Amino acid sequence: MSKNNEKYGLLINYEFCTGCHSCETACKVENKLTYGQWGIKVAKDGPRQLENGKFEFINVPIPTSLCNLCEDRVNMGKLPSCVQHCQAAVMFYGPVKELADKMSEKPLQVIFTPV
Ligand code: SF4
Ligand code: SF4
Repeated sequence: MSKNNEKYGLLINYEFCTGCHSCETACKVENKLTYGQWGIKVAKDGPRQLENGKFEFINVPIPTSLCNLCEDRVNMGKLPSCVQHCQAAVMFYGPVKELADKMSEKPLQVIFTPV
């Protein structure tokens, strides 16, 4: 999706994703998705014990091919539903160039752009 020929996307700071699944539910409700359809899905990796004895458990929300960046909501001036309902506030919407700048500020983040 683009506005004024600018590419937009989602930035996900997955280091602080709690794996609560609120983004999945918000997307399903907003886009009236049926059973088995997902606009975003939380992938889980771990837990595993690291050499330093600490445990690693990673949650990474992955938008799917059904994600259109909530085009209708955004055109009404709202945030994408997943971004608005993320209780941990780890999801951001905006121009990819701005998201890339934000991503350069810390590791363990990903940027998504739809087809
Ligand atoms: S931006 Fe909208 S369509 Fe895309 S994953 Fe989030 S809620 Fe679903
Ligand atoms: S709503 Fe936010 S904290 Fe919860 S699973 Fe989705 S990205 Fe992670």
